[in-house]
Amino acid sequence: MASGLVLLTTKREVAKFVDAARARGERIGLVPTMGAIHSGHQSLVARALESAQTVVVSVFVNPTQFAPGEDYDAYPRTLDDDVRLLGEVGAAAVFAPSVAEMYGERMVELMRRTGRAPIESMCHPVAGSAAKLWEGAKRPTHFDGVVTVVNKLFNIVDPDLACFGEKDFQQLAVIRQMVCDMDMGIEIIGCPIARDPDGLAISSRNRYMDEFQRARALSLSAALGRAREMFVQGCTDTAAISSEMRSIITAAPAEVDYAEIIDAATLEPLESLEGIDGADARAIIAARVDTTRLIDNASLG
Ligand code: AMP
Repeated sequence: MASGLVLLTTKREVAKFVDAARARGERIGLVPTMGAIHSGHQSLVARALESAQTVVVSVFVNPTQFAPGEDYDAYPRTLDDDVRLLGEVGAAAVFAPSVAEMYGERMVELMRRTGRAPIESMCHPVAGSAAKLWEGAKRPTHFDGVVTVVNKLFNIVDPDLACFGEKDFQQLAVIRQMVCDMDMGIEIIGCPIARDPDGLAISSRNRYMDEFQRARALSLSAALGRAREMFVQGCTDTAAISSEMRSIITAAPAEVDYAEIIDAATLEPLESLEGIDGADARAIIAARVDTTRLIDNASLG
């Protein structure tokens, strides 16, 4: 299918493109991604198009949110396919900058010399305390990298709204807090998790797995389903639900990083679900199937 999608690689090109759209009276939506576009990303574009006439998708594997030893180098980079898939769902532009364009030549040189992207060499925003929990506990520098790149993208694209997936539930909360704390005036829209028909949450990292590993990865959504079931049947003991989730994942087998019931607003662990509306509680999981680290979550309501 032919599309009018424009591929932009520099900040100047983005500014020009967005200025022209705004001069036509259009609202601008941004969908930040790291590429390897799949139907989850496409659903974010579709949601953005409900509230904005021009949707820009950024495709950038952000080095400052990866720690040494994580999959920065191996992360799938499939720009041609990405452009096609995003054009199919009506995105107006893809912004796919190089690291040098995004962070400057000095960062490229520091990465070459140190093998990491030293965020502390920059003036950068710091994520709030909710970022210290869960993913942040396992990946201490991750959310500072996320808020830094999202802040930069907001400055470059200057969108009216931005869409983020509930797939990365903690990331969505951290970004909402940044926008509120820093008075950024950008509408943040959280979008539901897109799943394969068998329940697996769609992720760019799913392509690391063969069919046997993929079958084991189904234990994450199965554990979330069981957590909901226990809650609906009247169980308010979060330790019991957490333990049941762990057993399901461990049996797959997969290695649990965490499997918890948390307050959906504060992200703090909940000791009991007594008197709590299921919509205010979230089951969250991170687990490894061999070397592939997966995250998933679901509301209990
Ligand atoms: P990523 O490219 O993995 O950094 O993701 C870019 C955006 O897409 C983030 O806001 C993710 O939460 C969102 N996303 C990724 N996978 C899904 C999914 N299966 N359903 C909905 N949103 C998703």
